[in-house]
Amino acid sequence: MSETFLSELTGSFSTPSAGNPTVAMVEAAYKHHKLNFRYINCEVQPQDLANAVLGARAMNWAGFNLSIPHKVSVIQYLDGLGQSAQIMGAVNCVVNRAGKLIGENTDGKGFLQAFKKVDSPNGKQIAILGAGGAARAIAVELALDGAKDFMIINRDEKRGKDLVALLKDKLKVSAQFVAWSAKFKIPDFIDVLINATSVGMADSGSYDLDIDLASIKKTMIVADVIVNPPHTNLLKSASSIGAKTIDGLGMVVNQAVIGVKYWTNFDVDPTTMHAELQRVLKL
Ligand code: NDP
Repeated sequence: MSETFLSELTGSFSTPSAGNPTVAMVEAAYKHHKLNFRYINCEVQPQDLANAVLGARAMNWAGFNLSIPHKVSVIQYLDGLGQSAQIMGAVNCVVNRAGKLIGENTDGKGFLQAFKKVDSPNGKQIAILGAGGAARAIAVELALDGAKDFMIINRDEKRGKDLVALLKDKLKVSAQFVAWSAKFKIPDFIDVLINATSVGMADSGSYDLDIDLASIKKTMIVADVIVNPPHTNLLKSASSIGAKTIDGLGMVVNQAVIGVKYWTNFDVDPTTMHAELQRVLKL
């Protein structure tokens, strides 16, 4: 009995979890399915990351998510990487697999799952606006799932060209970079247009992408990573002409579903998470 006590450490700390949409979603799923897990939010400074990972190991956590600025720097503290995390060089989800901490990237997987409800990426010509973490994650997963042609449109030339090089070198797909210096006209041959920039976020101060909305065709699938508001001006324009659209809510819900599956081996109902996300974001 005393040994049981000695091996336990019961903590109490202040957590900034209140109002965090991901925390709310995951906790709602745990509660709904009566899973004996908790999902809490801890603020970790860059200089404390090594100790935080050691702490997660010591406490035998099932895993954890990471946000910027930890997505790349965490890799040095892990025991291995999943395929897409290895290709991207970024981890947003760590999974304890038999005592080994393995880094995965669920952002792109969440997008892919949402996309596949609408169509298959196979053989599609894909234009991605942006070349940051979200664009990279989406492009890699789409390429791993059979997409072969990419156009990366970005303001910062180096970031855009780096993503093109990654797609060509590591995934052997066709990719071209387009410098985004003026209003961008979507070429007619594009099947899928994805906004993976932060333009459109309610608090970004900038609501409109510098693209020619009239160049969007009814036959295109138009997707946006923006979660709040989910009905961005881009998606409103696309759906007004009858194009199929995919909003950022599906991506964020699916990446959480995939994370929970990794940690608990349980398939949670995405509708519970979706409803909780809408409640928290007051959508
Ligand atoms: P990054 O900072 O890594 O990249 C931001 C990208 O947006 C860059 O390509 C940047 O271009 C571009 N950008 C920013 N402002 C403008 C502008 N005014 N005009 C054109 N391009 C612009 O961010 P992330 O990739 O991590 O995130 C991007 C968005 O994706 C965020 O809104 C984030 O919330 C969302 N996201 C949504 C997820 C979901 O589950 N729905 C998951 C992950 C992210 P440049 O390089 O030229 O500066």
